[in-house]
Amino acid sequence: MSTSASACDRIPEIMRDLRRRYLPKGDLRDGSTALAKISTATEDPFHVLVGTILSQRTRDEMTEKATDQLFARYADARALADAEPADVERLIRPVGFYHQKAPQIQRVSRILVERYGGRVPSTYEALMDLPQVGSKTANCVLVYGFGIPRIPVDTHVHRVSNRLGLVSAKTPEKTEAALMAVVPRRYWLAVNELFIAFGKDVCRPIRPRCEACSFRPFCKYFRTYVRRQTWWERRTRQAARAAPPARGSKGHAGSSAK
Ligand code: SF4
Repeated sequence: MSTSASACDRIPEIMRDLRRRYLPKGDLRDGSTALAKISTATEDPFHVLVGTILSQRTRDEMTEKATDQLFARYADARALADAEPADVERLIRPVGFYHQKAPQIQRVSRILVERYGGRVPSTYEALMDLPQVGSKTANCVLVYGFGIPRIPVDTHVHRVSNRLGLVSAKTPEKTEAALMAVVPRRYWLAVNELFIAFGKDVCRPIRPRCEACSFRPFCKYFRTYVRRQTWWERRTRQAARAAPPARGSKGHAGSSAK
């Protein structure tokens, strides 16, 4: 893994700019992700944990709908652990893979009841020990459930970090370690929320809106691909304009329209 000094030198500027746009009140409760909304509405790490599991490969609106329905009926780990499986499945139907996720969240709930009296543990290691909990989920629970600084990395955070040149890593797991090594800890809590918002709004997966992006001067992706491509297209157009018309074409000297 390597880092680009250029983008890394601009981290305070990047974070200031993104905060102004996506967290104007400076608080995660301002956030637009499903987890920020769940956290604000419930302030309950268990809801954040279940919400994170349900959010995998699912759009935010569907996660919000499913969690609203689920928690209105089963508000805590004990209630969910004892729930009728078919009813849980029905309530979370708006999310993708609900058939697999229903037994997963019930299994996690039972373990929380058995090991922690129904509470969610607040350390990375204890969370990683739970079934269905990987690094991204554990970090989401720490950030949105407990306000403990970590950097959860999903596909948006992975893409934005690598395009900017903050890190150069092939997988979200490697990006997570590289980002936490390069981003000062005081910014960790907000990185996931801000990079997701920016990744959906400007630095989109397909056709990023580089023309509307203030990070162009130091963005590795822009300097490496977009600017070169634009330069090449401009050169091609100039060359086409400067070239004499081909023989036989309408404007060619000597040709006559009959
Ligand atoms: S310049 Fe383009 S690729 Fe770079 S961060 Fe901005 S939108 Fe993304």
